[in-house]
Amino acid sequence: MKSTEIDLHKELKKYFGFNKFKGLQEDVVKSIITGQNTFVIMPTGGGKSLCYQLPALVLDGTAIVVSPLIALMKNQVDAIRSLSSEQGIAHVLNSSLTKTEVNQVKSDITNGITKLLYVAPESLTKEEYVTFLRGVKLSFVAIDEAHCISEWGHDFRPEYRNLRNIIKQLGDVPVIGLTATATPKVQEDILKNLDMSDANVFKASFNRPNLYYEVRPKAKTVESDIIRFIRQHKGKSGVIYCLSRKKVEEIAQVLQVNGISAVPYHAGLDAKTRAKHQDMFLMEDVDVVVATIAFGMGIDKPDVRFVIHHDIPKSLESYYQETGRAGRDGGEGHCLAYYSYKDIEKLEKFMSGKPVAEQEIGFALLQEVVAYAETSMSRRKFLLHYFGEEFDEVNGEGADMDDNIRNPKKKSEAKDQVVILLETVKNTKQMYKSKEIIFTLTGKVNALIKAHKTDSQAFFGKGKEYDDKHWMALIRQVLVEDYLSKDIETYGVLKLTPKGEAFIANPVSFMMTEDHDYGDDSDDATVTAAKSGGGTTDEALVNMLKDLRKKVAKKLGVPPFV
Ligand code: ADP
Ligand code: MG
Repeated sequence: MKSTEIDLHKELKKYFGFNKFKGLQEDVVKSIITGQNTFVIMPTGGGKSLCYQLPALVLDGTAIVVSPLIALMKNQVDAIRSLSSEQGIAHVLNSSLTKTEVNQVKSDITNGITKLLYVAPESLTKEEYVTFLRGVKLSFVAIDEAHCISEWGHDFRPEYRNLRNIIKQLGDVPVIGLTATATPKVQEDILKNLDMSDANVFKASFNRPNLYYEVRPKAKTVESDIIRFIRQHKGKSGVIYCLSRKKVEEIAQVLQVNGISAVPYHAGLDAKTRAKHQDMFLMEDVDVVVATIAFGMGIDKPDVRFVIHHDIPKSLESYYQETGRAGRDGGEGHCLAYYSYKDIEKLEKFMSGKPVAEQEIGFALLQEVVAYAETSMSRRKFLLHYFGEEFDEVNGEGADMDDNIRNPKKKSEAKDQVVILLETVKNTKQMYKSKEIIFTLTGKVNALIKAHKTDSQAFFGKGKEYDDKHWMALIRQVLVEDYLSKDIETYGVLKLTPKGEAFIANPVSFMMTEDHDYGDDSDDATVTAAKSGGGTTDEALVNMLKDLRKKVAKKLGVPPFV
């Protein structure tokens, strides 16, 4: 069919039974059926699959879909087959197929029956397949979960790096990239790696207006705080994420002895137990799953009412994905993270065993987590800015749904400081990261500043009446307001934006808030618990819990976990 003759709504109804396109789907489909390179960024659940499935079904030839997980491919193939009387309409091509099966796939493709061919990136590198596919009519190549191309994404797969070479061998076919990873850095990597800077880019909003974001300092009383929180949400479904399996087990037990129905979930449990616990959660036989990040992929429970992070995750991307499991039905979703700088140090230590390049990326991503946790500005605005999205913190949807907005800190006029900051960035040739800018302002040196002494001199110590923490807070706020930007290439070198340039020429009022100062003293329960909104310290409850844990351990015949 010629693309201009296709009635998309009719085809949508015919194949999928839907009456309407969701969000940007229609525009994406149009872009694909007119043969253009297309890049789709939509949150999980946004309906990305249909964006390439519908064009594949209506266009001549076979669409190749690259996907990282066999299980995902199988699901999709089953779903497509159920839409048609023709089994051969969709196939998976992978190394587990027998010779006969491969021949069947090949003959279905040659005969024009197969509209969608799912392949893992490893399989696509196989010479035999490439040679075959070069000789058949292809409609396009879609790369699902395209963030796997980028080391800055949360799921880097080296095999994805070869894709462009292989696609080039397949001839002149349009390329479609799809991902739920919204950071500008990852997007740039994808466009570059797939050599598709000319692509039509479609980006949906990542705002989740029904989610409430909150960060509490992590004190010794974190467990009693969590128990209190869950009791306030009695009978509701929730997920608690922990970093380690040990912590998962520990928290699950503490909850159980406190009369909260909770089960653990992590990769150390056997498949049967995992499946059982997952089902119990889905069927509402338990309220709470305590889990590592192993839990969540493909979990689609619409009424998860809270997601608690006992440990802060290693990137904001992960935080967004994990909290995104709350409130899928549009109802309440409370996202509570416990934060202590000590946890960041633990993560840094953990990363220090990795190769240098990976470490650098890891540290840079962690810094964003720190910034999010410590900020006292709109968390939603902060998060969306991280994803390259502007948010109006006064009138935007969900604007009042975070702790910083509900309990605002006092703001102070910082117009003059912003001018000093922007001028420092501008006149130090825009080659410093935040650290060097802050050092320059507060009159400290490091090797880089020494090497550029003449550039730094005029600004050296110019802001020394404020401390590092204050300047860091201001830099973060100025970044979110787009007076400065972080260079994507180097990930971190500060650049002056046109908006920043205009500010220097004509300064206006800039009200700043100091960042939260928690984390450093997280061991001091009396300080942190009081700030946590929970009120009292609850030392008694902690002791009672310790006691209970000992008893449980004794009952189970295992050493006490204190
Ligand atoms: P993503 O890959 O973006 O995470 P999926 O492609 O898995 O999302 O789609 C998520 C859900 O949305 C699926 O259950 C799908 O059937 C549904 N969906 C997709 N498009 C539409 C539509 N136009 N109308 C109604 N539901 C849709
Ligand atoms: Mg998908």
